[in-house]
Amino acid sequence: MANFFKDNADLMFTLNNLELAEVAKLKEEGYKFAQEFDNAPADFADALDNYNRVLEVVGEICGDRIEPRSRTVDAEGPHFADGVVTYHPLTVQNLNDLKQAGVMGVMLDHKFGGLNFPVSVYTMMTEMVSRADGSLQNIFGLQDIAETINFFGSDEQKEKYLPGFASGEYDGSMDLTEPDFGSDLQSVRLRAWQDEKTGQWYLNGMKRFITNGCAKVHLVLARSEEGTSDGRGLSMFICEACPQLVVRRIENKLGIHGVATTELQYNDVPAVLCGKRRFGLIKYVMSLMNGARVAISGQAIGIAEAAYREARKYAAERMQFKKSIDQFPAIYDMLAGMKVKLTAARALLYETTRVVDLRNGYTHLVEHGENVSADDRAKQKYYNKVAAVLTPMCKALATEMANQVAYDAIQIHGGTGFMKDFNAERFYRDARITNIYEGTTQLQVVAAIGGVIQRDNDVRIQELASLDYTGKLARLRDTVMKLHARQLEAVKFVAEKKDPAYHDLMARSLVEMETYIFVGLLLLRDAMKCEDRAAIAERFILDAVPEFEKRFMRVTSGDVTLIDNKRDIIDY
Ligand SMILES: Cc1cc2nc3c(=O)[nH]c(=O)nc-3n(C[C@H](O)[C@H](O)[C@H](O)COP(=O)(O)OP(=O)(O)OC[C@H]3O[C@@H](n4cnc5c(N)ncnc54)[C@H](O)[C@@H]3O)c2cc1C
Repeated sequence: MANFFKDNADLMFTLNNLELAEVAKLKEEGYKFAQEFDNAPADFADALDNYNRVLEVVGEICGDRIEPRSRTVDAEGPHFADGVVTYHPLTVQNLNDLKQAGVMGVMLDHKFGGLNFPVSVYTMMTEMVSRADGSLQNIFGLQDIAETINFFGSDEQKEKYLPGFASGEYDGSMDLTEPDFGSDLQSVRLRAWQDEKTGQWYLNGMKRFITNGCAKVHLVLARSEEGTSDGRGLSMFICEACPQLVVRRIENKLGIHGVATTELQYNDVPAVLCGKRRFGLIKYVMSLMNGARVAISGQAIGIAEAAYREARKYAAERMQFKKSIDQFPAIYDMLAGMKVKLTAARALLYETTRVVDLRNGYTHLVEHGENVSADDRAKQKYYNKVAAVLTPMCKALATEMANQVAYDAIQIHGGTGFMKDFNAERFYRDARITNIYEGTTQLQVVAAIGGVIQRDNDVRIQELASLDYTGKLARLRDTVMKLHARQLEAVKFVAEKKDPAYHDLMARSLVEMETYIFVGLLLLRDAMKCEDRAAIAERFILDAVPEFEKRFMRVTSGDVTLIDNKRDIIDY
């Protein structure tokens, strides 16, 4: 009996130490739903008990059922003929198992049949599903579509779609990318036009690389304002699968084979506007994508967890020179590095989800609550700002980490890792997409750098640094705070240079430097709660120092030779 929750001490530690009391109270609106719905918790102890119980159920489904099917799903994948996508029977079974467990509307309100769980707990499920089958997460994770309708749709749209999402009757897709516009979504061209007589909207054009484009319900980014060419001319629409919406092909991909990635053609597809005109990209899709960025971070960590465990097991069993290979420093260095990076990314992920949950909770309170105080408004503003910088920092860290861990897992397997007979190569292929979709790492840097320069993390950094550390942990905290002082210096240097090209060139280093500091402090906080975690915190910080210094030297060098000489070097 495998259980991907109960066998993961780090995940269980995270749930029990995340301090979700404020989040749960906001989500349950003071636990007022307990009188109306059987499953709604009456207090925080009840809520935490619910979270643990459902995570255990999902952990068992992932370990016992989904993971054993994953190799076949990867090898055979979905089928496409005559415009119809048919998922592999084992993928269908996986989805049925998750539907029966009642986890297709994890974050949706009780009144729509959802569990009303916070993002933090949902993300733990995404991790476990991804550890079992990276590609299945791409279908399971489309719950974000329902969440977006819940945030921005009309009451009528919510009534129409959300119960179907919660029961698993409806699935969704997020149709943003076009052949000519991927990172540059503000230039999207798919046209939305309105029949003046009936008021009915129609969609015309192409989308590509759409995950699960065979879905029943689509959220579509389209140009509703004729004559515009930027993000302010875009609106978000809901449309349903219909004969005018044609799946032209499914892609032949490197990884995540279990899910269909489609090219879609819209031939006057009837659609309804979701939210207000012109807010499609700047508000709704940004919210949708930020939610998905958190989920992809969970996917990356789940895949990395699987790769790490596979490598650790192999290294303990594989004998060379009459020893198991995990006794060689070169191998245990890699294994320890994998574990430290994985734990670091998880710490940042759940700090991010907690902030996102608080942002969502206070936003709901401010927009719909009675007797909203100035303090509530200030908190909403604060968490909104911090979520905006932590989300891309987290996605960049988690997805780059997953690639590195999956790469090292193959290395530890030696030639065996290159063979299809073992899982390591699949984890490597599946990890590769995580730092591309929902915005590449380069675009996460673009999203995070403003908050790093504005020092949006400093309140939390000071909070974490002022915890009551003693002994070694206090010394490590001082080490991290020395890096922080240098980070302020580096940020000032770049800001004062007032050179946009230099700013952009150094942005990734600055974001990574910020991440070393922030995550170092999170790991120290966790080590204070649980002594066993001190070794990981220490390793992370000691490894971070030279990495930080290397970047610091580059950022504060003022060296513009690459900007000046790039054409000579790249040799166009
Ligand atoms: C398997 C898969 C599933 C997907 N699922 C979906 C989906 O469900 N819905 C959807 O809408 N889309 C989906 N996508 C699309 C995905 O989000 C895009 O591929 C991704 O955002 C990158 O866009 P692009 O491929 O057009 O690359 P480009 O935007 O052309 O980028 C190419 C390179 O240029 C870099 N670059 C571009 N702009 C900048 C900049 N300003 N600064 C620095 N570097 C830059 C990028 O980092 C990248 O390295 C999926 C893609 C794949 C492969």
